[in-house]
Amino acid sequence: MKLEKQLLLFLLSVFYLNILTANSAEKQLWFKGNTHTHSLWSDGNDFPEMIAKFYKDNSYHFLVLSDHNVLSRGEKWMNVGAIEKRRRTLGVATLKKYISTFGQDWVEVRGEDKKQEVRLKTLKEIRPKFERGGDFIFIEGEEITNSFGGSPVHTNGMNLKERIVPKKGTSLRDTMRNNIIAVREQSLRLKKPMLSHLNHPNFGWSITAKDLAHVLEEKFFEVYNGHPGINHLGDAKRPGDEKIWDIANTIRLATLKSDPLFGISSDDSHNYHGGDVKPGRGWVMVQASSLEEDSIVKSMDSGNFYGSSGVHFKNLLRDQKKGTLEFEIEAGAGAEYVTKIIGTRKGNENKPDLVGETLATIKGKKVKYKLMDNEWYFRATVTSSTNHPLPSFNGQKEQAWTQPIWDSSAIRKK
Ligand SMILES: [Zn+2]
Ligand SMILES: [Zn+2]
Repeated sequence: MKLEKQLLLFLLSVFYLNILTANSAEKQLWFKGNTHTHSLWSDGNDFPEMIAKFYKDNSYHFLVLSDHNVLSRGEKWMNVGAIEKRRRTLGVATLKKYISTFGQDWVEVRGEDKKQEVRLKTLKEIRPKFERGGDFIFIEGEEITNSFGGSPVHTNGMNLKERIVPKKGTSLRDTMRNNIIAVREQSLRLKKPMLSHLNHPNFGWSITAKDLAHVLEEKFFEVYNGHPGINHLGDAKRPGDEKIWDIANTIRLATLKSDPLFGISSDDSHNYHGGDVKPGRGWVMVQASSLEEDSIVKSMDSGNFYGSSGVHFKNLLRDQKKGTLEFEIEAGAGAEYVTKIIGTRKGNENKPDLVGETLATIKGKKVKYKLMDNEWYFRATVTSSTNHPLPSFNGQKEQAWTQPIWDSSAIRKK
């Protein structure tokens, strides 16, 4: 081959490579997902297909069925009477709804009367029913349900390929740590991106901001969880989930010289026939190149997502290197929006009232903020004037929570 021809081919390949990279850089899409859901495989009160249908019908793109200490695998038959009991007489019979939605041919029952049983389908069996269209996927997961000295330690494992048996620990923090390490160990061994998030820290008042801060393996926690029993707002003496985030992030940056935590919003849904623990309250919006489990998990791992309970962004530019956050809110009819930029200024880390203070209040749809030299970090909470349609606490409004931007120079080099 002549030299000129070789050069031409080389230039052409560079040209096409550029087009490919440019396209893949542009092709970042937003996907809506719930990372925390319970079904009949543990203590939820509906069949996984019925739950998946709810999420798919409500414009979610991905769902993690995160039952307690179990993956939806293997043969499991359940007594029909026991299933109906979980409905607590609310709504139409669970089995009847299941059959009328998916057809008699799909549903497997055996036995008669009080001994009648129905088989729970595995995730593998139900995937094709929902994933065929390419607009919805399942990410396999488990709520690794553990405790230390009576305090619940619940960690969701996302994109797991094997069940994780809860790992014991010698202290609360050790217990938290060991379960995250178990997820990480599986991820490394199977060479698959996986993620773990610490759930509802205030459930049973078990995990404090200090605990969250000091377990450095912890990268994600639930800043909002739709279960009404998890003390989201805290009480007179104890901080709510948002404040916990600010206290933990301040300790991480000012004292431990470590990365702050990312915040997840989820449902933790259990009740699908009415009842208190409903689906559709909190979710994440993830920016990823494709709707595939690895792509979603990798994006979340790099902080490319936000939590929502009703507020969405048209565009969100979060640049950790430049220290900037910029977004436009997707406005609902007649709704007004207030964005609070929340953070901690350097020197204030030991003044409780100024940890996680409001650094700026911005009204309207467009928001822009840049990290100042005297700030450890900042994040944004957007609150709409619209009431949450399915509130988990009194007076709940629709909200969104961005991930923090922080002073990277404060981080100790690993
Ligand atoms: Zn839990
Ligand atoms: Zn749960």
